[in-house]
Amino acid sequence: MYNPFSWVKSITRIASWYGLALLAGWYFDAWLWSFALASTSLVIINYFHLIKLNNWLWHSKKFTPPDAAGIWGYIYDGIYYMQRRNRLKRKKLGNLIRRFREGSESLPDAAVVLDADWHIEWCNRLARIELGLNWPEDAERRIDNLIRHPDFVKFLRNGNYDNPIEIESPTNINRVLEFRMMPYGEKHYLLIARDITQISHVEQIRKDFVANVSHELRTPLTVLSGYLEMLKESPDMPESFIEKAFEEMGTQSVRMQSLVEQLLALSRIEASTERVYEKIVNVPQVLRTIEIEAQSLNKDKHHDIQFEIKDDLVIYGVETELRSAFSNLIFNAINYTPNGGVIRICWCRDGDKARFKVVDNGDGIAEEHLSRLTERFYRVDKARSRKTGGTGLGLSIVKHVLSHHNSRLEIKSEVGEGSEFSFSFSKQIIASV
Ligand code: ADP
Repeated sequence: MYNPFSWVKSITRIASWYGLALLAGWYFDAWLWSFALASTSLVIINYFHLIKLNNWLWHSKKFTPPDAAGIWGYIYDGIYYMQRRNRLKRKKLGNLIRRFREGSESLPDAAVVLDADWHIEWCNRLARIELGLNWPEDAERRIDNLIRHPDFVKFLRNGNYDNPIEIESPTNINRVLEFRMMPYGEKHYLLIARDITQISHVEQIRKDFVANVSHELRTPLTVLSGYLEMLKESPDMPESFIEKAFEEMGTQSVRMQSLVEQLLALSRIEASTERVYEKIVNVPQVLRTIEIEAQSLNKDKHHDIQFEIKDDLVIYGVETELRSAFSNLIFNAINYTPNGGVIRICWCRDGDKARFKVVDNGDGIAEEHLSRLTERFYRVDKARSRKTGGTGLGLSIVKHVLSHHNSRLEIKSEVGEGSEFSFSFSKQIIASV
C-alpha cells in the first residue's frame, strides 16, 4: 500500500534517534560522545543507502528496489514508480510504432518516407518489391539515385506534386506505376507508388473500343452520305444507278443496325446479373430452331450441314445467351467455309460433361490469329468478314456467354484443313439425367 511522504514522521524518527542518544548520554554521563555517535551512525546509514542505491541503479538486474525504511523507502519507491511509468510509456510507444508499421506494410501501395532532400528514411515491403529498394541498405540514399527514370527525376525536381505521374516499374517494364508525392510535417514527403497496369490496360481497351466503334460506324455512314449527296446534286441519274444506290444504302443500314444490336447484346451479357442455375434450357430444341435458320442461310452456299443432337441433354442456363453463342458459331462456320463444305454440329455427352462442337472443313485460321479471335472487332480478313455482314463481335459475345456459364471457348484450326470451335459444360450445369 502506498503511504505518502510525511515530514512529521521523518522528523519524529530523527528526534527519537537523538532522544535515545541523549538518554544514553545521560545514563553514561557522556553527552558529547553519545551525540557524536548518533550523528556518525546517521551519516553511515545514509552513506550505506547511497551505495545500495548506486548498486541497484547501475549493477542490479532486479527491477524491484531493495527494501528500506524511512525516507530511503520513499526515494526507492519514487524511482521505482518513475521507472515503471517510463517503461509503460515506452511499451505504448513501441506498440504504436509496431501498429503503424504493420498498417503501412498492409498498404496495397508502395510507400517511401523521404526527407527534404529526398533521402529515404523508411520504406514498406511493397516499395522493396515494386521499386527494387533494399532495406536497410538504401536508408539515407537519395531516391533519384535509385529510381533514375527521366520522367521521375523531372517530376521530383519540378516541385509541383499536385498531379501524379505514370511511369513503368523500375523492376518490371511491363507494369505501369502511378507515383504520388505528398508533403507532410516539416519538409517530409510520402512517396506512394500504385500499380495501375490493369487500369491502364482497361483504359487502353476502352479507347480502342471507342475508336473501333466509331470506325465501324463511319464506313457505312460515309457510303450512305456519299450516295445521298450524289442523289441530291444529280437527281436525274440513270435508273440503274439509283437502284444500286438504294441497294447499297439498304445493306449499309442493315450493317449499322446489326452492329448496334450486337453491341447491345454484348453489353447486356457483360452486365448480366441473371443467375445461371435457375432456369432449364432445352438445348436440343434451341438447336433445332437454329438448324432451320442455318438451312435458310445455307441456300446459296450448298454446304452439307450435319446436326448430331443428344435429345435428352438439357442444361441450366440463360436461353437467350446460349442461343446467341450456338448460332454465332454455326453461322460463322457457314459464312467462312467456301461453298460446298461439310459442317458438323454436335451436342453430346463427353464423359460427365456436355459438349458443343462445330467442325468445318473451310480454309482454317492461321495460328497467330487464334488467341485474338475473341477480341472485339478482331477479324482475320476484314474485307471478307464485312462481305458476310460480320461485325467482329460474334466470338466476343460467345466468350462472354461462356464465361457467364463457367465455360470457355476452345478453338482448333489448321490452314487448308478447317476449324473446330467447341466448349463444354460441367456436370453441375447439366439438368438431365
Ligand atoms: P464476325 O462478325 O466478323 O464473324 P466473329 O467474332 O464471329 O466476327 O469472328 C471473328 C473472326 O474469326 C471472323 O472475322 C473470321 O475471320 C474468323 N472466323 C470465325 N469463325 C470462323 C470459321 N468457322 N472459319 C474461319 N474463320 C472463322
